[in-house]
Amino acid sequence: MGKIEMKTPLVEMDGDEMTRILWQMIKDELLLPYIDLKTEYYDLGLKHRNETDDQVTIDSAKATQKYGVAVKCATITPNAARVEEYDLKEMWKSPNGTIRAILDGTVFRAPIRVKGIDPCVKNWEKPITLARHAYGDVYKNVETRIPGAGKAELVFTGVDGQEIRQTIHEFDGPGVIQGIHNTDKSILSFAKSCFNYALDTKQDLWFATKDTISKVYDHRFKDIFQEVYDSEYKDRFEENGLEYFYTLIDDAVARVMKTKGGFIWACKNYDGDVMSDMVSSACGSLAMMTSVLVSPSGVYEYEAAHGTVQRHYYKHLQGEETSTNSVATIFAWTGALKKRGELDGISELCSFADELERATLSTIESGKMTKDLALITSMKNVTVLNSEGFIKAIRETLEAVS
Ligand code: NAP
Ligand code: MG
Repeated sequence: MGKIEMKTPLVEMDGDEMTRILWQMIKDELLLPYIDLKTEYYDLGLKHRNETDDQVTIDSAKATQKYGVAVKCATITPNAARVEEYDLKEMWKSPNGTIRAILDGTVFRAPIRVKGIDPCVKNWEKPITLARHAYGDVYKNVETRIPGAGKAELVFTGVDGQEIRQTIHEFDGPGVIQGIHNTDKSILSFAKSCFNYALDTKQDLWFATKDTISKVYDHRFKDIFQEVYDSEYKDRFEENGLEYFYTLIDDAVARVMKTKGGFIWACKNYDGDVMSDMVSSACGSLAMMTSVLVSPSGVYEYEAAHGTVQRHYYKHLQGEETSTNSVATIFAWTGALKKRGELDGISELCSFADELERATLSTIESGKMTKDLALITSMKNVTVLNSEGFIKAIRETLEAVS
């Protein structure tokens, strides 16, 4: 059988450490034998980011805007130790942060479910997708300690000289204050990304804030979501039998625990940070989590939710065997290939990606898995494979079905 042809290249963003090793193995064993793989390659490995003064990260994001679909390997976000380790010219910014700032998106994360690795919440039959607004609020705050008695005020000075002034608190002793913000533009693109993703994946959308207490700030989020839903999405949701509903965050949390899953839960930045950790840990492992950045203009960047698995990489460098789970990285590739196939009308590419996902899951369900899963599965007598052995086992499953 000939290889599947592609039309438009995927933007391929290579990365660091153990995930860079898995990246190459996945391409060699699971993609190149079956697909005439077309990619525009950007090496986001820290060494090359440093050599290009991080220009390569910007170029890769721009290429994503041009082509529409990217697949990204995990990358190191440098800290002081990495500056020394890689002899960096500067402490380059987080590539994910740079890419998000250019693509202006929302991050969607969903657990990858397999039989034998069951969520702690028994009634969660289907995955819950978390949509996290990735801009503003407490993540862009200004805060200070108040040394003693005095008046704290909130002041806005418009470029036209208009002034808005409100008292935050009349302090009679020491305390703390904090200023946070968001913009209508960012909230609007968050809303559109969520509605588009719900239509794309045919799932209901929930959105929740604390607008009963935050009657202006959180209420603005609620209003923007409702306005854009009514004007641009309501008809398409109804045609697809989908529901959008808004509720209070406490109500959402209570309801989530009682649902069967299978919907998208849109959260403000802080809520999304906290709740995605809860959902992923309840479902087993970060290595069993998909992650995709969707921009309001309909550009997609697929990645794994975990990092570069540094501890395993150092074992690998010392010649020791590793058992690193490649599922999230495989699903980053299949997500990107499926989206590319959809956009270019190549149904074989979509079917192949589906088959590869099924082969990955059925390999695990047959009892062959990496160590992280072996530790949490309810299956008995499982075979623990090393990093390469697991990928080869998936290839065998794939060959057996095709
Ligand atoms: P990490 O790479 O996610 O790994 C933390 C631990 O989680 C590992 O030591 C391992 O536990 C377990 N783990 C994560 N992924 C696994 C997998 N695929 N298979 C098996 N076990 C897995 O986080 P980190 O070690 O804190 O960060 C390493 C580097 O990744 C950092 O430089 C950070 O900047 C970067 N990072 C990048 C991204 C991204 O590009 N999206 C995200 C997060 C972090 P055990 O050691 O117990 O086996
Ligand atoms: Mg968190």
